Amino acid sequence: MPAESLDQIVSLCKRRGFIFPGSEIYGGLANTWDYGPLGAELKNNVKKQWWRTFVHKRPEIVGLDSAILMNPKVWEASGHLDLFTDLMSTCKFCKKHIRMDHWDMLIEQSSWFQSLTELYKQKEVTLSDLKTWGEKTATKLAPNLALVRNPSITISWVSEKLESLSWSETEILSSIRELIRYLATEQLTRDGLQTPCPYCGGELTEGKSFNLLFKTHQGVIEGEGTPIYLRPETAQGIFANFKNIIDTERPRLPFGVAQIGKAFRNEITPGNFTFRTREFEQMEIEYFVEPGKDADAFEEWKAQVWDWYMDLGIDKDTMRIREHDKDELSHYSSRTIDIEYKFPWGWGELFGLANRGDFDLVQHEKFSGEELKYTDPNDPKNKFIPHVIEPSFGCDRTVLTFLLDAYTEEELENGDVRTLMKFDPRLSPVDIAILPLSKKDHLIEKAQEIHKMILDKTDLVTDFDITGSIGKRYRRQDEIGTPKAVTVDFGTLGEDKKQGKKDTVTIRDRDSLKQERIAVGELIEKLAGF
Ligand code: ATP
Repeated sequence: MPAESLDQIVSLCKRRGFIFPGSEIYGGLANTWDYGPLGAELKNNVKKQWWRTFVHKRPEIVGLDSAILMNPKVWEASGHLDLFTDLMSTCKFCKKHIRMDHWDMLIEQSSWFQSLTELYKQKEVTLSDLKTWGEKTATKLAPNLALVRNPSITISWVSEKLESLSWSETEILSSIRELIRYLATEQLTRDGLQTPCPYCGGELTEGKSFNLLFKTHQGVIEGEGTPIYLRPETAQGIFANFKNIIDTERPRLPFGVAQIGKAFRNEITPGNFTFRTREFEQMEIEYFVEPGKDADAFEEWKAQVWDWYMDLGIDKDTMRIREHDKDELSHYSSRTIDIEYKFPWGWGELFGLANRGDFDLVQHEKFSGEELKYTDPNDPKNKFIPHVIEPSFGCDRTVLTFLLDAYTEEELENGDVRTLMKFDPRLSPVDIAILPLSKKDHLIEKAQEIHKMILDKTDLVTDFDITGSIGKRYRRQDEIGTPKAVTVDFGTLGEDKKQGKKDTVTIRDRDSLKQERIAVGELIEKLAGF
């Protein structure tokens, strides 16, 4: 059972050292997060698995690590300077900024939308129910809603509209959204219905385009020279290096270039833990194909990416594919799908796959004046711009997905509940815990000897833990998702036959809780299996 609430994960991450709030000792900086010791290991493992699957195991894909700061012309050519915008409104009351294409999602997450939905699920609501809801609930949850500020006008306006709404199971959410617009409108103005602030119900300003590029300046004097930008995606570093890669690698189509790195967007509504932040990491591939072969490559990538998540243990019922409507497509894309994950607040984008056609290379050719064509190795006269399929993974969203998916609460035979993170062993931050049964010096020495042997002979990540009772230490290892624990006891020392034979240790399995006694001499071979 994956985590049902985000709070469960946020608190486990803080308690165990996966993810901390950023700049915490200074009161924090909103929506920034730091990966702690375990989070850094987990995130590195995610990146390692990704690189292994999509770079090392794919002879036609090479890696790149390009700079975050690029010549600003890149962003002119890519269209980001003009088109990388979202429509933003501001609440006239609580002053919060709202990304308008997120309004549906934000309103559905609001407690007042949810309370109204609950009400409707019980019965078809009348005007007087709405009045009571306004007086009792909306005053607390949406204090700036027109219904609260001006109930008589609003209610008379709503009365005409109520009958037109449908309360069938499938339409209930859209009807509630519509009803909320009625409850936010004091009277029909020339602008029509009000779309209220999802946080307080207040009136929003007219939407304005807001560019998401993160501006900074280069050099010692602020304001001198042209502004430069922190890259909003890693992709453009790949296109800008296309010529270098062609010249040095001499690849044949189809081929890909992969890159993992930070990207920055001045997001209007960051939030939901690491799901949407202004600084985040992407894992992207630009896959170059012959024009006309885009559609097949697109289908192949769709399946390969789905399989990658499945192979690393994500429950298939928590993922789905969403095709973008034509009017939703970005300026560079002829087809886009998202893989979405069922986050505790609803479905959200985890990964995007886009057919970028020849848009980027054509633009960079135009703006840079450099020829960015591929030469057919069998016919040097045949030069053309390849088409591009772009699988784009959010690294932080992928880590969050693995955290949510791994979270498990399990009732034990004695009625206790244990929390464990059922990470695929390839992702677990710690591979193996070494736990001396007690703090007696000579037992610790023996455990240290075994620890050193494991470190010398394997690449495993270990955790040597002597703090607290053995039960508590097992619980900690379960909560951080360590697949195996090796316990060194007095049997190992030959001092207590009941615990086990001399020079044997216990290996405990995280998921089955099975304990196996094995000889120290066999330990390395046994552990090498995962
Ligand atoms: P959204 O619609 O959620 O803003 P997007 O469609 O703009 O995302 P893309 O430009 O396709 O996102 O970026 C590729 C991937 O990068 C996304 O699938 C997501 O996993 C990740 N990503 C994008 N923006 C953010 C962000 N602000 N914080 C964390 N990850 C992000």
